[in-house]
Amino acid sequence: MEFSSRARQRHARLAGDRREQYPHSLQFYLEPPTESISLVEFESFAIDRLRLLKVVENLGVSHVRTSDTYKTKLEAELRKLKFPYRALAEDDYEARRKDHISHFILRLAYCQSEDLRRWFLQQEMDLFRYRFNELTESLMQKFLEHVNLSFEAIGEDLKNQLANELSSSTPGFTLPKVKEQMFYKVGLADAVDLFRARRVFIKDGFAYVPFKEIDVIVLNNYRTKLSKALALTARSLPSIQSDERLQPLLNHLSHSYVGPDYSVQNNTGKISLEQIDALSVKSFPLCMRQLHRALRESHHLRHGGRMQYGLFLKGIGLTLEQALEFWKKEFIRGKVDADKFDKGYAYSIRHNYGKEGKRTDYTPYSCMKIIMSNPPSQGDYHGCPFRHSDPELLKQKLQSYKIPPSGIAQVLELVKGMHYQLACQKYFELTHDVDDIGFSLNHPNQYFTESQKLLNGGREPKKEFSNSGNFQQKNNSQESINSSSTLTSSNEKADTELEGLEAYFTED
Ligand code: SF4
Repeated sequence: MEFSSRARQRHARLAGDRREQYPHSLQFYLEPPTESISLVEFESFAIDRLRLLKVVENLGVSHVRTSDTYKTKLEAELRKLKFPYRALAEDDYEARRKDHISHFILRLAYCQSEDLRRWFLQQEMDLFRYRFNELTESLMQKFLEHVNLSFEAIGEDLKNQLANELSSSTPGFTLPKVKEQMFYKVGLADAVDLFRARRVFIKDGFAYVPFKEIDVIVLNNYRTKLSKALALTARSLPSIQSDERLQPLLNHLSHSYVGPDYSVQNNTGKISLEQIDALSVKSFPLCMRQLHRALRESHHLRHGGRMQYGLFLKGIGLTLEQALEFWKKEFIRGKVDADKFDKGYAYSIRHNYGKEGKRTDYTPYSCMKIIMSNPPSQGDYHGCPFRHSDPELLKQKLQSYKIPPSGIAQVLELVKGMHYQLACQKYFELTHDVDDIGFSLNHPNQYFTESQKLLNGGREPKKEFSNSGNFQQKNNSQESINSSSTLTSSNEKADTELEGLEAYFTED
């Protein structure tokens, strides 16, 4: 690629600026970005970071965080998504910029509820831990100085004086090892985690922390800063929510998933109504199995359930005619007569298929949407059982589905750690008798498709998705936000610049 001399100068200036702005590949993300960015960049940075954090979540549950597999897979993902992946790389300023901006965009999207904040914090912490531990000792030192966390290393005399105490209070540290390692004198407040776990020597209000444990201190510090920053950003919610440019984008980020759009069907009409009972047992995720069972038992579902289940059925291939027949047959077995069904319920089913009202072709709900919005109340059956059921009830349900006790324990452990989609993946593995499902679950219809592929020996026709790998862009909510106001990289707003993002991160 050739540059004209002006372009070359501009390029050099830009590189210089970036070098100054991002002296390290690792960041504490203390200063929000001040530059204007286009909607296209905003969207693609945000999607990539979301992908990265999903991978961090998946890897964190499937592998030990210090294992080689964990590190290799995470590095591969960082490389693929063009985030800084090697501490020593000197020319990754664009990657550092992307890292910086994308973190702040997701911070805006994920400050909006307690659940979102907790998830974001956990994944960012894991990502940071990996990156910090990948630094060489000298780069760690540089980074610590950069973020004003330079701790005082104790001198040899003091170390020799305290050698016995250091060895007996620091697990894994024999006397010769104490002699080899550098120890830092750290204020107690910074070493709370080590102190609680009895992994550090304490004297006169100071913890004596070996170099290899310094990551705990740094992570603690980062966690405090980030959770405070998230709480602060949450205070800007009223202004974020009234910003017409941002609110639809951010809502979609926190409720969307990064995967195919299940509204595009090439299996429409391939499923008969008679198959649904059997499919609900074999191939429906727990949320849909629960809805199907409730419908069969009470011959009715409330609005939230009809929306969630109706769109899922549409996604697995039910035609409008089949859907009308399916719902009507069931409802008239309960308290609703045929006339009332035609007047009161048929409209909303046609509406879901884009035949009424705004004629939006509604897409089935993703896991994120089901987990994050419209929680069920008494008498509702929608939602995600892993997120919304009482653990004891969930346990009973899994027992009734003949899941072995050890499997139930694993699922409940994941639920306890708030890894709801991973709990669902585990449920898939247990009900399909596979060790590793080999995909990252994001959508109930994906669960169905993958289950059918597996059960039919891979014969399930692979759907072609027109916007594979892109956001679920169509509006899922009944209230309907015009899709032109949602994330898109190809509309007329593509070149629009977003300015003034930093205003949301400042104190007032
Ligand atoms: Fe349904 Fe997704 Fe929850 Fe599984 S994780 S039960 S597919 S919402």
